[in-house]
Amino acid sequence: MADRFELTFYGTRGTRTVHGEQYRAHGGHTTCLGFRAGDRQIILDSGSGIVNLGNRLVQEHFASNATEPLTTYIFHTHTHYDHICGLPYYVPFFLANATTYVYGPRSAQGTFEEAIKRFIHPPFHPVALHEMAGEKLWFEVGEPDVVYFLKGQEQPIILRTQHARQKALTPPEDQVEVVIRCLRGYNHPKNGVTVYRIECAGRTVVLATDVEGYVHGDQRLIQFAQGAEVLIHDAMYTQDRYATGPVPTQGWGHSTIQIATDVAEQANVKRLYLFHHDPSHDDDKLADMERLAQSRFPASLMARDNATIDLIAEFPSS
Ligand SMILES: [Zn+2]
Ligand SMILES: [Zn+2]
Repeated sequence: MADRFELTFYGTRGTRTVHGEQYRAHGGHTTCLGFRAGDRQIILDSGSGIVNLGNRLVQEHFASNATEPLTTYIFHTHTHYDHICGLPYYVPFFLANATTYVYGPRSAQGTFEEAIKRFIHPPFHPVALHEMAGEKLWFEVGEPDVVYFLKGQEQPIILRTQHARQKALTPPEDQVEVVIRCLRGYNHPKNGVTVYRIECAGRTVVLATDVEGYVHGDQRLIQFAQGAEVLIHDAMYTQDRYATGPVPTQGWGHSTIQIATDVAEQANVKRLYLFHHDPSHDDDKLADMERLAQSRFPASLMARDNATIDLIAEFPSS
């Protein structure tokens, strides 16, 4: 079992970055989560927050005098701009002695790799992806794939465990360090989103960003997140913005505090982090929304840039 499982929020904002005093407490970077799982660095989404993470990883790697490549794993929920805009500035992409495993969903417009290659290319970016010296390995994942990180093996295996033949290949528990499961969210325009469940050292974190709800709760998500220590759930809108006003945001693929807390309660998670903050919401507004969430589900917190959760210390196993 891995002896370390930590999560740091490098970016918690949705849609676009924000800057200024009024955002200082929660931060302004778009979505990026960094996990230290045993010796591995696993990343969910490459919004602007990944730039600071990449810089930190490279500094640590140089400081350690390691000769082996800096190896990292990035999983993407989808390819909307706020979830990939930091990738062109992820320093390991430029280093000859760095290997990045890059995972993401196929879309109606083509493969994940093609989408990123179109994005990191002139005229949108001065340097094309293939001109960057770092090694990049591309993989498409989505429901029902299960990704197993095995002890002593750099490259994880991907199994579709609903097939009997592949289920039979499921590695024994004592060889597995980290498991990542995928759920397809259909409720985000236009290609949906992937919800990830990451399990390590007996603790579980679920990232459900860019999701909307259903009447009585999204039952597939509630099952998928059941019993997790941490659920990170989209909570972009106030009820007012969602349902009233000249332009209601219902159907735009994001949630309210009410939707997020309903899922957390039904999924029996230990802690809920509200995520994908609206760029128009300053610290005061987010503090109000946090209080509303806590009145509905007491173990609720707003996700904040640079906050770290030590999952083993904060959630002792029972
Ligand atoms: Zn988004
Ligand atoms: Zn999106």
